[in-house]
Amino acid sequence: MSGAERETPMESELRALPKTDLHCHLDGSLRVETALELAAGRKLKLPADTADELRPFLTVAPTCASLKEFLDVFQLIYPLLRDSSALERIAYELCEDCSAENIRHVEVRFAPLLQARSKFPPEEVIEAVLRGLSRGLADFEVTSGVIICLFRSHSARENAAAFRALKRFFKPGNGLSSPGVVGMDLAGDEARHPTMEFADFFDQARRLGIPATCHAGEVVGTENLKAAISLDVRRIGHGTHLFEDEQLLDEVIRRRVPLEVGITSNVRTKSVRSLRAHPVRRFFEAGVPITLNTDDRGIIGIDLTHEYRAAAELGFSFEELAGLSLASVDHLFLPEADRRRLRASFQAEIARLKKKPLRRP
Ligand SMILES: [Zn+2]
Repeated sequence: MSGAERETPMESELRALPKTDLHCHLDGSLRVETALELAAGRKLKLPADTADELRPFLTVAPTCASLKEFLDVFQLIYPLLRDSSALERIAYELCEDCSAENIRHVEVRFAPLLQARSKFPPEEVIEAVLRGLSRGLADFEVTSGVIICLFRSHSARENAAAFRALKRFFKPGNGLSSPGVVGMDLAGDEARHPTMEFADFFDQARRLGIPATCHAGEVVGTENLKAAISLDVRRIGHGTHLFEDEQLLDEVIRRRVPLEVGITSNVRTKSVRSLRAHPVRRFFEAGVPITLNTDDRGIIGIDLTHEYRAAAELGFSFEELAGLSLASVDHLFLPEADRRRLRASFQAEIARLKKKPLRRP
């Protein structure tokens, strides 16, 4: 989806816009070429030996039938990522991919218990990712934070281990100077494992001052959304079904809880019928705070510029999109002083971009 030579002027402008990605899964950001090399180095078998042949297996096609099918693609990816060097590498490459489209700050999330094994504890999983992100910061000037995911289908014991690791690494003051663990998320199949089953973890996080987000209202109704709001999350992953409950919609607006929107992801998981049916513009007009994110850039085969372009197709002007990218900074899990710094730098860069004559497709 990249390839500057095929880009329209509008896409080039959106690529140049300073951006943040608040909802980005590390494993879902894996490059197909890297998957091949990781498999070869670990003597693991993949269904194909070349990037072109492997791509259909590692990317979710527009014909994907459900979130379940979407999540199944990950079963091929997990075995490739069960050691430090693989994790460090893909975290580093994610920074490189972010830098190519001026994503200045990325909050990358993963469930460490998906990679951990008996001799590879969740703490080492997190350390490996932080090493990759630190190298990414040094080489590409992309700042980042890590969000630790609890996983809906994991046992209470596994999630407790992930939460322990989260507590150990959480440093609210890490900020922009070095990547650190900044928050908690709940991911996985929300249809089978409702949010309320995990209420204790959200309560503990709140008591410890750990900011939380939660995948909710992505594929099924508003129960999980309602639960997440009642658990006082700072942000909502997706929230696509929010319009089904007017009272909840009003509450989200009143409390200014931002939605981490992944437009193409929602189309692929059949969370919405089509791109045209996506409610992101209606959310915006209703006054819901929204952010645009990749979700799984690798397995969807997109980048964030593509998502901004998709929003433009749904009626957002360049000025509105620049406003969204700037407002996203306010929702980052960062100390306020760092948000202020980033905001000032975004404002200056956006002002410079706006001075150039705007060309439209
Ligand atoms: Zn997600």
